[in-house]
Amino acid sequence: MIHPIPAFHDNYIWILINNNSAEAWVVDPGDAKPVLSYLTEHNLKLTGILLTHHHHDHTGGVLPLRQQYDCIVIGPAHLQKLVTHPVEDKDVIRVFDAQLEVIATPGHTLDHLCYFTNNWQGNKVLFSGDTLFRGGCGRLFEGTAEQMHSSLQKLAKLPHDTLIYCTHEYTLANYEFALALEPSNALLQKNNKKVTELRQKDQPSLPTKLQLEQDTNPFLRFEQDEIHANACAHLQQPLAKLSSEKFALIRKAKDIF
Ligand code: ZN
Ligand code: FE
Repeated sequence: MIHPIPAFHDNYIWILINNNSAEAWVVDPGDAKPVLSYLTEHNLKLTGILLTHHHHDHTGGVLPLRQQYDCIVIGPAHLQKLVTHPVEDKDVIRVFDAQLEVIATPGHTLDHLCYFTNNWQGNKVLFSGDTLFRGGCGRLFEGTAEQMHSSLQKLAKLPHDTLIYCTHEYTLANYEFALALEPSNALLQKNNKKVTELRQKDQPSLPTKLQLEQDTNPFLRFEQDEIHANACAHLQQPLAKLSSEKFALIRKAKDIF
């Protein structure tokens, strides 16, 4: 079971639970408090932490959690003060019975890692941190548009039925931008309506599925003529030729949207 623990304004800390052993892992615990309450309430022991990147809203809870639980911390190697098991691209780690592959996805930050497994209780699962969101992608704080472009292309090659667990509830804002670039996309309109209803009931819009992202996310659809033309019009820039330039235009248009 994978469950969202809401944190701060719009973060989710995903908790992975092994019911047989009453053990849990968390992904990107920016805040220890809601995690500790969840663990106590459900009688779980924290045995591991996965980190996608160094930002404080993803790592702030690590030290307080480790004061309470003797758990391991897997993440980018440069976070020596937090990480007990440094990993890099293509490493394979084990969480309970599942094997997770580490995928380096620089762009949002240079250290950003995603974690993929093709068998989490029968599902394909990706923890995408702040790289791939439902309807969007992370801002470029450290990397270049080119790096983010190739990182997202890596993720786009994963199986289409992969469930994507990202760290932020940004979906409605992302859909507003996506619809501005691709107003004719019926599936996008339908999902915007669906998520609006979910959010009114305070329910998460996540996880998403890779296939849905392929069909609605402008950061995977920048080659579509309508999207490209609208992004250029928005930025008052001429049409681009290269794929990575087209991607960069979408990122730029979102930054000023
Ligand atoms: Zn971040
Ligand atoms: Fe974040």
